[in-house]
Amino acid sequence: MRSSIFIDGEWRPASDGATREIRSPADGSLIATVSEGKIDDALAAIAAARSSFDSGVFTSWGWARRSALLATVADLLERDVELIAALESGDTGKRIIESKYDVADVAATFRHFAQLASEQHDKKIDSGIPHVSSRITYDAIGVCSLIGPWNYPLLQIAWKVAPALAAGCSFILKPSELTPSTAMHLLKLLEEAGVPRGVANLVTGAGSVIGDTLTTDPRVDFVSFTGGLSTGKRIMSKAAETVKKVALELGGKNPHIIFADADLDAATDFAVTAAFLHSGQVCSAGTRLILERSIHDQVVTEIVRRAKLIRLGGPTDLTAETGPLISEGHLKKVEEYLARGVQEGAKLLVGGVRSTAPELSRGWYFPPTILDNCDTSMYCVQEESFGPIMTVEVFESEEEAIRLGNDTIYGLSGAVWSKDNAKTERVSKALRHGTVWINDYGPYKPAAEWGGFKASGNGRELGEHGLQEYLEIKHIWTNNSPSKSGWFADGI
Ligand code: NAP
Repeated sequence: MRSSIFIDGEWRPASDGATREIRSPADGSLIATVSEGKIDDALAAIAAARSSFDSGVFTSWGWARRSALLATVADLLERDVELIAALESGDTGKRIIESKYDVADVAATFRHFAQLASEQHDKKIDSGIPHVSSRITYDAIGVCSLIGPWNYPLLQIAWKVAPALAAGCSFILKPSELTPSTAMHLLKLLEEAGVPRGVANLVTGAGSVIGDTLTTDPRVDFVSFTGGLSTGKRIMSKAAETVKKVALELGGKNPHIIFADADLDAATDFAVTAAFLHSGQVCSAGTRLILERSIHDQVVTEIVRRAKLIRLGGPTDLTAETGPLISEGHLKKVEEYLARGVQEGAKLLVGGVRSTAPELSRGWYFPPTILDNCDTSMYCVQEESFGPIMTVEVFESEEEAIRLGNDTIYGLSGAVWSKDNAKTERVSKALRHGTVWINDYGPYKPAAEWGGFKASGNGRELGEHGLQEYLEIKHIWTNNSPSKSGWFADGI
């Protein structure tokens, strides 16, 4: 058993000694037994973070020293890539190669925020008065609760931890209860890199038990959350009690629009990848394929053929192309979602039944699944399955493609394919989503903001804005030659 709670520079067990078994989604094997934190642990972590922040131990470092710290963390991540990838694949069941890509992205995230930190400076304002200097400073927002999901466990928390450290914040990190291993390793690396005691704290445990404490305690200044819509709504309403700032990265129901004049070879290939990468457990998965009617049959025939070829398997199966779903509970939700889609009139073209091959029987595998004849009145078009289910809709005109693409409560990402640049420009501008790809699907860069319109959340991660979330803006006005204001009579 590993003491997996890290508070005030010490690894400890849960206050009540409780533990949780982490089991591989690929085959059910025991991966780790970790501490199951409770409210007392969350309170202790908040106290440590508050005390370290109020002491000024980290803010006093200044931007340059914190920038160097982040660069060191990036080096350590790269040093430990094999180990971290093994931990990530153990918890999530994803292929080792995908976990290695994730670690590279995590290191790139730390380097991005190291760079941004090195460029920070106060902003001078023209006061209009010769003896007055006026400037804007950017202060750390304070104590942050950082809460992450299970699909890209380390990457999603890196998008929070790196800017929090760059800004000089203290934090309490809570990874998903299903995938705590890489968060634990990250905390070890932060310790090794020299993050002051009490600045970085980790509580493993169930969100249903410790989540409210982390998001309502008045000693917490900011909550950054990545996860599902219903949890996000709860956090937002709970945080209102203390007027806490909240940043939410929530779900997506992402339109993938293909016009008849697109490069159909490339577009069809990307349609398959966008929907079935990581078995659809991707917030930006291209789960809504929206095709110009004239190419429907041709494209659908090809994606069905391609979907049948996709090989499922665990982290160490070198022939596997994608892995299992995260848990039995999630697999059941995906099955229910599919059943509802079929009941509503969608036509099941491929997949749809959990994988029973002997080598997959101990894991939570569900094959790539395609539902045709879909429209926006259906639950399966409007809601995330967070599994490998693609729905297919058709459009007749550019206006209809845009209308369909925006006909969702979400607004995380989307794509448009056409060789007509003027058309892709018009459509990309009209789509109400935080990221739009043209003739591509999926890439992101640490230097570009990531986040959602509408119910996909608020705030942005990455880019410059991803650091600003962790900063308070202060105006400092200095009168270098004070004299009486003369506003009220002084009676002299
Ligand atoms: P989730 O169930 O909402 O959980 C996310 C995190 O919130 C977990 O750490 C969870 O802890 C915690 N949590 C649960 N109840 C809480 C509460 N009352 N207060 C505070 N925290 C609480 O989401 P998920 O199933 O892990 O992740 C899938 C969702 O994340 C999908 O909707 C996906 O689209 C979204 N996502 C979005 C992005 C993006 O960039 N927009 C990226 C990745 C994922 P437990 O694990 O202990 O329950």
